[in-house]
Amino acid sequence: MTGHFIPKDLPTHIQHYIDGAFTDSVGGETFSVLDPVSNTDYATAAAGQQADIDLAVAAATRAFTEGPWPQLKSRERARILNQIADSIETQETRLAELETFDTGLPITQAHGQAQRAAENFRFFADLIVAQFDDAMKVPGAQINYVNRKPIGVAGLITPWNTPFMLESWKLAPALASGCTVVLKPAEFTPLSASLWAGIFAEAGLPQGVFNLVNGLGEEAGDALVKHPGVPLISFTGETTTGQTIFRNAATGLKGLSMELGGKSPCVVFADADLDAAIDSALFGVFSLNGERCTAGSRILVERSIYVDFCEKFAARAKNIVVGDPHDPATEVGALVHPEHYAKVMSYVELGKSEGRLLAGGGRPPGMENGNYVAPTVFADVAPEARIFQEEIFGPVVAITPFENDAGALALANGVKYGLAAYVWTQNLTRAHTFAQNLDVGMVWLNSHNVRDLRTPFGGVKASGLGHEGGFRSIDFYTEQQAVHITLGTVHTPRFGATQFGATP
Ligand code: NAD
Repeated sequence: MTGHFIPKDLPTHIQHYIDGAFTDSVGGETFSVLDPVSNTDYATAAAGQQADIDLAVAAATRAFTEGPWPQLKSRERARILNQIADSIETQETRLAELETFDTGLPITQAHGQAQRAAENFRFFADLIVAQFDDAMKVPGAQINYVNRKPIGVAGLITPWNTPFMLESWKLAPALASGCTVVLKPAEFTPLSASLWAGIFAEAGLPQGVFNLVNGLGEEAGDALVKHPGVPLISFTGETTTGQTIFRNAATGLKGLSMELGGKSPCVVFADADLDAAIDSALFGVFSLNGERCTAGSRILVERSIYVDFCEKFAARAKNIVVGDPHDPATEVGALVHPEHYAKVMSYVELGKSEGRLLAGGGRPPGMENGNYVAPTVFADVAPEARIFQEEIFGPVVAITPFENDAGALALANGVKYGLAAYVWTQNLTRAHTFAQNLDVGMVWLNSHNVRDLRTPFGGVKASGLGHEGGFRSIDFYTEQQAVHITLGTVHTPRFGATQFGATP
């Protein structure tokens, strides 16, 4: 069940990619990278420091100020973005295999993430070709128009869950906008990011437009955030890290996009299609090993169906296939890293005193090695419980009953996070009223997370600031300069003109 698949030609050392060349850290620093099935080191990676970030920012700055990239016509940039998408699709098998090896994500889901990464590039290619900007007329007086300009070097800092896809989520709009970039991927999972260099070079992205510096958040990430040559930071990760970055970016008054943590509710009313709700609620919290920012990790169920729901949900959770991430039959794989595994397990133990354990509760039987957690279900969880309030980021769910709409809303909104929510009801009026009263950035009615790339993506409260998705992403990476043109004679109050006999 826990066989150890090792992709062929696995690198034993992962380098930075700066100004079109793979390179080690100036000072030679490295860190170790392990795989989550054997928990043994399989590679070292260059650990970026200030000096490496300086080089990467210098290369990106040169590519921005001297290179062709920001000046290209949208169609020319779009052509390269589409070639990037083609190349990702061609390498899907390899990409999924490396991603699964490094992250522990089930291989079928890693394939889905690779396809989504390609789609992100196609989407932004289409978007910039269709992009137009506002022109405004004041009859007889002015024409005003928006001159949109790429801002410059964008610093992109990404987490370890679905790393390649989340990198594409930032790379595609940044590059589409004409910015140049320095990417700092998560230190737990640098493997798939090392494919970007080849993909971009093959697609004809000019030298220096894309730069990658591996390393620890407190070193490479921190240097990138504080670098005066980087006016934009797009960050996805934990709320506490986001707060640190906010503070550090304040001195430079940088543009910030913050996609942070979540503790999203899945609210199931008695009139819901129960089978569909159970399918989606299970997928919503256990897909991607539960390491998912939009996971529906709190399930709120109307009292009259509570017992039935809990029973059916727990039976299915017990039946989920936990196994080798490379096995196509696997539904939940291995958590990314022993440190994260220990954190999730501490919540599993805590849950035993905060709720009624219905499924899971530890390692799946017979799986002694690797970061495996049996899908874990706690019922009767009080809203004050830590497993109700805190992001666990693993295959662990809290179920809580509610009596009526007002009670459900209070529970749903009663956490510090506000990323997503899922609402299950057949009642149209209730669905919309409830959705609109939720303090979250995104709501799905009668569905799990199915993204339309044009819609705003982002959270409120502790889940983030700003929105990505569609034109909003382009807005983040571009400056909208207003240009005002006077038609005819400009009417100006004539300061200082009175002594010359002019009428004021
Ligand atoms: P993390 O905050 O630990 O790390 C994210 C990135 O930030 C990594 O690359 C890390 O090296 C870097 N970093 C850490 N400290 C830094 C610092 N001081 N300065 C600059 N960079 C620093 O997050 P994680 O554990 O990798 O990812 C899991 C978290 O990400 C969860 O909280 C999850 O909800 C969140 N997430 C949010 C979304 C979203 O869109 N809202 C999507 C995916 C994940």
